[in-house]
Amino acid sequence: MKILVINCGSSSIKYQLLDMRSEEDYSLLAKGNLEKIALPDSKITHKPTGKEPVVKVGPVPDHTEGMKIVLAVLTDPECGVIGSFSEIDAVGHRIVQGADFFQGSVIVDEDVMEKIQICCDFAPLHNPAHILGIRAMQAVLKDVPQVVVFDTAFHQTMAPKNYMYALPYEYYEKYRVRRYGAHGTSHKYVSMRGAKVAGLDLENSRIITCHIGNGSSVTAIKNGKCIDTSMGFTPLEGMIMGTRCGIIDANIVPYIMKKENLTPDQMTDILNKKSGFIGLCGKSSDMRDVVGYSEQGDERAQLVRDKTVLDIMKLVAAYIAELGGVDLIVFTAGIAENNPWLREDVIKNFAFMGIEVDHDKNEAAKGECIISSERSSALVASIPTDEELMIAIDTMRLTQKQ
Ligand code: ADP
Repeated sequence: MKILVINCGSSSIKYQLLDMRSEEDYSLLAKGNLEKIALPDSKITHKPTGKEPVVKVGPVPDHTEGMKIVLAVLTDPECGVIGSFSEIDAVGHRIVQGADFFQGSVIVDEDVMEKIQICCDFAPLHNPAHILGIRAMQAVLKDVPQVVVFDTAFHQTMAPKNYMYALPYEYYEKYRVRRYGAHGTSHKYVSMRGAKVAGLDLENSRIITCHIGNGSSVTAIKNGKCIDTSMGFTPLEGMIMGTRCGIIDANIVPYIMKKENLTPDQMTDILNKKSGFIGLCGKSSDMRDVVGYSEQGDERAQLVRDKTVLDIMKLVAAYIAELGGVDLIVFTAGIAENNPWLREDVIKNFAFMGIEVDHDKNEAAKGECIISSERSSALVASIPTDEELMIAIDTMRLTQKQ
């Protein structure tokens, strides 16, 4: 079946069309990105598999028009990959926040839409754009089932001691302030693939997944279910990231606000967009640049590298204890997939318990592979994440059941 995966931002629509013969047998027909919606120079970059990429520039006033353009390029006689819209069997949408309403992916109906709307409060930049995307798709593909896949759903199995903050209980009751986590689609996907590659039974396993990209989080997964994760009420919590600070003493926030005379919005911007790698190193939020500067002797760039490794190590250590041991540690996303030094530096800290990376395997790692040594007491793997594929798999599972 052909599944269109949509990731809608406030001014962009990213899409992939996949032909899913089964969960393991699929092909990518096309992918692309429509950027700068509502600006005069909106741009679509369409990449059909096996054909030359196409770039078109021209005004796209809103998401409904944007969806029409996406469908037009997919069915275009030259750069298209399907004959008509009717070949699309289902649409899967990525949704950033589902709070505690959604324990898994669901088929869209009006009740689901209302709950996604309530969750706009927790993800004001993302959820409103997702709603626009679903409404636009409903308008254009009326009878095609739409599925929503939440970044938070995988973490809904956490126990109250893991998701509650030690704040006055009334803020949880009145405002739903609790830990929700993020990157759930990625953690779920790489734990599934990691277990497969490692020859483990997912239902009987202790896995730690480290999603280290521009945004980063670490998750503890027992028997296929999340028991703890490092992101919290928002994706700010946890470890150092490209532009986010990760865990800090909350008293720093009012302290800096008073000293610098900042508004809540200005402070939010500093914590989310001006901290992390860019805040500490001062030169870049991109790990490639940070590595480059550190190799030229820049001490603050080296500090970023050291703190990134330390933060991951502390989370992995805590999760080993929570899981009562570990069978598999998985590294994924832009930074962890492409920087073998980081994987090796993290795992070196667990030599005392017999976990060991094979240096040569780790340096040569490409695609899905085991990088631990033969004698390591736990397996270590590098697994490229594929959130779009996970969305397509969930969409297929739900719509085939109908
Ligand atoms: P996002 O969270 O936006 O999805 P990614 O998972 O793409 O981010 O990760 C982006 C990070 O991955 C950047 O810090 C970048 O430096 C790093 N990265 C991506 N590709 C490489 C590479 N080939 N070598 C080293 N680092 C890389």
